[in-house]
Amino acid sequence: MKKVELYNVSFEITRRCNIRCEGFCMRGDAQNFDMNKYMVDTFFDTKSRGYALDGIHHLCFTGGEPTLNPEIIIYTINKIIEENIPVYNITLMTNGQLFVPELVQVLNKYNKYMTLKTNKAIRDYCAENFGNSPKIIERMLKNVPSSYAQITFSTDRFHKLITEEVRKQYSECAEGIEITNFEVKDSDIIKSGFSKNGKELKKEDVLYKEANGNYRIIYNYVYMTAKGDIIFGGDGSYQNIDNNVIGIVDEVSLFDVVETYKESNLTKIYKIS
Ligand code: SF4
Repeated sequence: MKKVELYNVSFEITRRCNIRCEGFCMRGDAQNFDMNKYMVDTFFDTKSRGYALDGIHHLCFTGGEPTLNPEIIIYTINKIIEENIPVYNITLMTNGQLFVPELVQVLNKYNKYMTLKTNKAIRDYCAENFGNSPKIIERMLKNVPSSYAQITFSTDRFHKLITEEVRKQYSECAEGIEITNFEVKDSDIIKSGFSKNGKELKKEDVLYKEANGNYRIIYNYVYMTAKGDIIFGGDGSYQNIDNNVIGIVDEVSLFDVVETYKESNLTKIYKIS
C-alpha cells in the first residue's frame, strides 16, 4: 500500500465569522460555508483512493472563526482518538470571542490520549531494547512534548480585544493544553498579503520527499476548505484559495498529486533528495 506522511494540515472549519477585522482580514467577506462530517471522513479515509495516511505532524483548525462550528471539531478529534489516526499535534486558532467549553474538553481529552500513547510507546520501546532501564525511560520521557494541543488566540491590533473573563474561562477549563497568542506584525500583514489592501500571497510551491517508491512525505500545508476542496498553502483570501483548488477531497490522492499536478500551472512541485 502506498503511504503519505503530511507535516501540516489545516481544516477550514467554517467561512463564517463573528467579528469583522477591518482592513486586516486576509479572507475577505465571510461566506456561509461549513465543513461537514463527510469531508472529514473522506479526508482521513484514504484507502479507496489507493493510499494510507501514515502520519500528520500537525493539524490546525482555522476559519473563518472555527468556534462557530464546534460540532465538526469535536467530531474530528473523537474520530482521531477512536480510529487511532496518527495525528501528533493539534491547534485551534480562534479570535477568542466565544468560549465553548466542549471544545476545550475535547482538546483536553486528545492531550491526555496522546500523553498516554506516547508514554506507553516509550516504555514498550525501552522494554524491548533496554531491558526496562528506569534511567533510560526517565531520560526519554523528559524529551516528550509537554503538550500535544494548543489554543491560539489572534491578538494583533486588528482583532477585537479578548476579554479577561473569556481568557479566564479558557485557562480554568484547560488541562495541560498550551494557550498562546499570535500577533501578526503590521509590516508582515502587508508584506505577506494578509491585508485585503495588500497583495495576495504567492502560490505555494510543493516540497516533498520520496523515501521509496511507495512512501512520500509532503512538507507544505495541505488545506481543506469548508467547501471540501483541497489546496496547498491556505493563508490568503477565499478568492485566492478558490482559484488554487487542486480538487475536491473525495477525488484528490495526496500520493499521486505530485505526478498529476506537476505539469499544471497551479503550483510548482519540488522533490527533495
Ligand atoms: S481575520 Fe479572522 S477573526 Fe478577523 S474577520 Fe477575518 S476570519 Fe474573522
